Amino acid sequence: MPCRIETLEKPARPTAFAPLPQPLAWIEADMLALRARGLERSQRIRSGRQGDAVTLDGRPLINFGSNDYLGYAGDVRLTKAAAKGACAEGFGAGASPLVSGHSESHELLEQSIARLLETEAALLFSSGFAANIATIAALAGPDDIIFSDARNHASIIDGCRLSQATVRIYPHRDMAALATLLAGDRDPVARRKLIVSDTLFSMDGTLAPLASLCEIAHQYQAILMVDEAHATGVFGPRGSGLVEKSNCNDGVHLRVGTLSKALGAAGGFVAGHQAVIHWLRHKARASIFSTAHPPSIAAAATRAIGLLAEEPQRRKTLLDNAAEFRDRLLSAGIDLGEAEAQIVPIMAGTAEAAVRLADRLASNGFFVPAIRPPSVPEGRSLVRASLSWHHTVETLQRLASTIEALRHEP
Ligand SMILES: *Cc1c(COP(=O)(O)O)cnc(C)c1O
Repeated sequence: MPCRIETLEKPARPTAFAPLPQPLAWIEADMLALRARGLERSQRIRSGRQGDAVTLDGRPLINFGSNDYLGYAGDVRLTKAAAKGACAEGFGAGASPLVSGHSESHELLEQSIARLLETEAALLFSSGFAANIATIAALAGPDDIIFSDARNHASIIDGCRLSQATVRIYPHRDMAALATLLAGDRDPVARRKLIVSDTLFSMDGTLAPLASLCEIAHQYQAILMVDEAHATGVFGPRGSGLVEKSNCNDGVHLRVGTLSKALGAAGGFVAGHQAVIHWLRHKARASIFSTAHPPSIAAAATRAIGLLAEEPQRRKTLLDNAAEFRDRLLSAGIDLGEAEAQIVPIMAGTAEAAVRLADRLASNGFFVPAIRPPSVPEGRSLVRASLSWHHTVETLQRLASTIEALRHEP
């Protein structure tokens, strides 16, 4: 039975605003500076659902700008699971998890995550961002050292800052540099050492060398925490992530992930040893002082984890198609950096060049967003094609031909 498509009230944006009061007037100047550097953003409004096509500001485009890797964000089965959860437990959770917000749906979801990851326990957060900042700030403090990959996600960077630990940043995936930093940090002796890395890097589409990370963490007796946000649902025989694919379950101490990307729902989690997760329930401030996410979301996310087991061909199709797409662009001499997954960056250099390429792709019917500072360093702007199970081989071939043709235009 299909879900009845509802028509929602159409939003209209106001256009006239009062001048800013004096204490906030500097914001106008700051915004002008962003505009001058080509960094002003306009937030597009999407109509309808995520899918292979998406309507942005009223314009239908082939969608290469979502993290909906398995096509579940708009899946009616999840809409229904959410409706069922809301009918059973209400729309709002009403309290933080430790008080009365943790419903049976939340409990089921935590157990489903732990089973999927083959860990003892998992702790939910309202977002992956919250999971990272809360977990890092709980694990490390001013007496500790965190070793962080230079391209780690903003939520890891903010977690490191919040922890007030000393932060040592190693060049992207450079294991020799990481080992050197760890070897050099014996004097004075840090109370704890924490290594943290994305597993699939969101801007570059690169993979962390997990086996080496485990080896180094073991050698230097450091805690190893990885963020699987873009890998959850995509990698591994069961779809639990790159840790599973790389056979590194034993060497990775904590795994953060999100329910908001391949799983099509919302929310984040950290999973690991029962004793660690139980302790985190007492220490992770973004969990303790924040309302549990709506039970409907938890119910939908549990269903999405079920779909991972029922539909393994989705992740296989996605990764096979992505490999073919990258091969085709690479053999046409297009710079993809070192991408090796379903996130395919087309390197453009300046922010202007990235925006120009994205605009031209949009004129050809493709939504492939430009990524510029602060999401990437200055001079490393790119256009990022996020592939989804939705995309057919023909669609991918058309995008590749369009990129190849546009490359020759000034
Ligand atoms: C998206 C992302 C997050 C945040 O997850 P949300 O659930 O969207 O808040 C965390 N880490 C990485 C690497 C991400 O790409």
